[in-house]
Amino acid sequence: MSATIVDGKAIAAAVRAEVARDVAAMDRPPGLATILVGDDPASGIYVANKQKACREAGIEPIDHRPPAGATHAEVASLIAELNADPAVSGILLQLPVPPHLDGPALTALIDPAKDVDGLTPLSAGLLAQGRPGLRPCTPNGVLELLDRHGVELQGAEAVVVGRSILVGKPLAQLLLERNATVTLAHSRTADLQATCARADVLVAAVGVPRLLGAGHVKPGAAVIDVGMNRLEDGLAGDVDFHAVVERAGLLTPVPGGVGPMTIAMLLRNTVLAARASSVDATERSENPTGR
Ligand code: NAP
Repeated sequence: MSATIVDGKAIAAAVRAEVARDVAAMDRPPGLATILVGDDPASGIYVANKQKACREAGIEPIDHRPPAGATHAEVASLIAELNADPAVSGILLQLPVPPHLDGPALTALIDPAKDVDGLTPLSAGLLAQGRPGLRPCTPNGVLELLDRHGVELQGAEAVVVGRSILVGKPLAQLLLERNATVTLAHSRTADLQATCARADVLVAAVGVPRLLGAGHVKPGAAVIDVGMNRLEDGLAGDVDFHAVVERAGLLTPVPGGVGPMTIAMLLRNTVLAARASSVDATERSENPTGR
């Protein structure tokens, strides 16, 4: 039997519509500040897409574009200003930054309460400890797809291929938080095919086109393909879609699977950050001495 194909565009649209409803019910719109250092055209397009999605959801985009030659101190001071600004619910530093700047060091300066990308060391630490915090957007999007399809995670054997800080590692922790039994595979995994073939939930976040084929997939497994590999004939995932579609129970296409979820989850994180800060503000006004 053929796998159910996940419609990531439709699920992302549903999440964005929920975010828009949540924003409409808020006293004031959340603000998402983007920092784009320099004028890299690809980064400019990513930021423009995020700002457009914000406007559509009723979130206010707050645009900052320091020049390509901006110093670490200048960008750091902008981040400090945004950390302190109550109109700013979330802060996003678009990566990569120009080579004279240290992207991770700058990202680490973002207040974790406003870290809507979920990528600061503090946010990563909160996730590792299973404590509440803002979670990274792409891994969170993978969970949303699985949840919307009713995939049982508790007790499931989950294999994540790829251990990047951006996708694989946080996703493994999110799955663990949901009581899956998680294996994190990588380029040095001894027998990747046998490891993957155990999985009830198999996620590929590798960056190698069509690395996983039918032999990697347990019949009926949920297979989520995070890979986005630009080839001459278009985008390809890390999973060989045609080889796997008759074997998997659930399968994401590329494009149109995980891809659209990232911005949707960024918008959701911005609303979560705004809500948490308004709760904090109420608590402070009711108890100004903090006693
Ligand atoms: P990355 O930082 O390059 O990490 C790739 C991981 O895959 C590494 O852990 C690496 O293992 C592992 N790996 C490489 N070759 C392997 C092999 N032959 N067998 C098993 N594991 C192998 O990549 P990333 O940032 O996580 O991105 C992964 C893919 O997801 C890319 O195609 C990227 O474009 C895509 N992506 C999509 C979205 C989205 O849809 N919104 C967002 C982010 C990323 P080692 O650690 O051992 O080197």
